[in-house]
Amino acid sequence: MRAEGIETVRRILCVFPRYTSSFGTFEYAYPLTDGVQAFMPPQGLLLIAAYLPANWPVRFIDENIRPASKEDFEWAEAVFVSGMHIQRQHMNDICRRAHAFDLAVAIGGPSVSACPDYYPSFDYLHVGELGDATDDLIARLASDPSRPERQVVLRTAERVAMTDFPIPAYELAEVKRYFLGSIQYSSGCPYQCEFCDIPGLYGRNPRLKSPQQITAELDRLLECGVTGSVYFVDDNFIGNRKAALDLLPHLVEWQKKTGYVMRLACEATLNIAKRPEILEKMREAFFVTIFCGIETPDPDALKAMQKDHNMMVPILEGVRTINSYGMEVVSGIIMGLDTDKPETGEALLAFVDESRIPLLTINLLQALPQTPLWDRLMRENRLIEDDSRDSNVDFLLPYDQVVDSWKKCMGVAFEPEKLYARYQHQVDFTYANRIKVPVTPEQKSWANIKRGLIMLRNIFWKIGVLGDYKKVFWKFALPRLRHGDIEGLISVAMIAHHLITFARLASVGHHNASNYSIRLREAAVPAE
Ligand code: SF4
Repeated sequence: MRAEGIETVRRILCVFPRYTSSFGTFEYAYPLTDGVQAFMPPQGLLLIAAYLPANWPVRFIDENIRPASKEDFEWAEAVFVSGMHIQRQHMNDICRRAHAFDLAVAIGGPSVSACPDYYPSFDYLHVGELGDATDDLIARLASDPSRPERQVVLRTAERVAMTDFPIPAYELAEVKRYFLGSIQYSSGCPYQCEFCDIPGLYGRNPRLKSPQQITAELDRLLECGVTGSVYFVDDNFIGNRKAALDLLPHLVEWQKKTGYVMRLACEATLNIAKRPEILEKMREAFFVTIFCGIETPDPDALKAMQKDHNMMVPILEGVRTINSYGMEVVSGIIMGLDTDKPETGEALLAFVDESRIPLLTINLLQALPQTPLWDRLMRENRLIEDDSRDSNVDFLLPYDQVVDSWKKCMGVAFEPEKLYARYQHQVDFTYANRIKVPVTPEQKSWANIKRGLIMLRNIFWKIGVLGDYKKVFWKFALPRLRHGDIEGLISVAMIAHHLITFARLASVGHHNASNYSIRLREAAVPAE
């Protein structure tokens, strides 16, 4: 479905803002690739691009790949921007640049939907999801594209059903420049973790596309040149378990038909470990990674943040169960909770060792607007606005102690020896449980072999020859090479290099500790 009945033609420039440097976007891996420059194609802006009237020319620029140019602004009649809170400064900067060309600028997406007052300079605020506000915006621009005298705020009251969503305009994005492909099946989550803004923004009753929409989107991604890893950006892939079970057979069939050309990943709650029927189908559909918001191994802390569902299975047992279906667990961890004690850092490092999870995104607690945490801290007068701090929360422990503990955890958890030992465990006890997939014609193609050779050359030279942890690398790499597991080697070496580099900088204070972007939510914008 797309907007209809509009005859006037308008040229729309969609600009996605740059990210601030972040643990979860793998930027230190990019120089090892064959030209990757950005993390994932943004679902929301590409969805809007696909929804615009068919006769409206649309240009999409991801400023993580290249900045919008003078020529782009001169071409456009109006500019659309979208993003998360952490992209706020860059969004405001795009607005300023567009205004220099006297263009009307509209902003949508999760940040403006939660905090319209962050964006006083924009001409149109699109608050909420794809719906009547979107139609109103299109109608207003069709009748007059010039800047309105004062800011116009449009709020979606009636949303477009996800079953009516068009396929995001992936063809406008330079998909080969992205680290991962992205796709979205559902939006919303039934839980209400205290710190999370998803239920407030997108609802507790997950909205869904149809399985047929998803396979059509996968077809389109493939046509656009996406192979390799595709991430389901759903807030919680099992937010509606029945829907997940409905979709999975279609994914299995699609993978069989195309020769398993894509490795799938998603976010889901840890209680997925109690659902062997879902895990088995995910294995068959070649899901290889699940991001679980474990947040903390401390049961009292989980209770306090209303994340009791993480305790439905003992955490380590849950991780092992998921691993037994061939899926690596990526874990979100939060420090600075009210329940934290001086020894929390040590307990966390013990958990990292025991769980053998290689990739943990360890963040300081940050209160987001429209969350129960925000409301509570506001009542307790514990919200601090101070850009020099790494968090807006007035922790119960001394601030410096919490930040030092975070730095220490980052430094120790991602020491090369420790990280590669955890990856070796995954090779032996997780990856070994994956289904054996055929080598596809795409993998055998000269283009793919050339790509692999470029990445291997980069990895061997930058890590194996010049790297200061080369011994650890070769200890892992040589057996992989002997097994002919080139893809596995490339994938681990790239991610590990990012983690090691980022963590080293973080442990000496070079990176922000409350980097909420890590939750990969940035691409999960159902609509703007
Ligand atoms: S943190 Fe995850 S499980 Fe909790 S409400 Fe948010 S999306 Fe749902």
